[in-house]
Amino acid sequence: MPSEEAVPAEKHGPTVYSFFLFFSTGTLFCDTFEYMTFILIDAYLCNSCGTCIEICPEVFRLDEATGKAALVSTEPVITEAVYQAAAFCPEKCIEITET
Ligand code: SF4
Repeated sequence: MPSEEAVPAEKHGPTVYSFFLFFSTGTLFCDTFEYMTFILIDAYLCNSCGTCIEICPEVFRLDEATGKAALVSTEPVITEAVYQAAAFCPEKCIEITET
């Protein structure tokens, strides 16, 4: 029968291992890791105000079919204006995700 002290040691084992694995992976792949940035527009929340287009017309446009904001290109260049457009969006429906 294991003692009371042996049980916590087993419970904490996987947690410690996971942290170590994450740390090791970051170290192994740091030379080849590329950052990618995605812009997501929640068209359901968009109210078509056009603020994002005024701030950053190189990246945002108004989709004529839906009347909602959309991206000009599938590979937009992420500039400070993109972050400003997201910050000033009244519906907060522009999400910029960095991986
Ligand atoms: S600022 Fe936001 S709510 Fe306004 S058009 Fe752009 S995405 Fe839509």
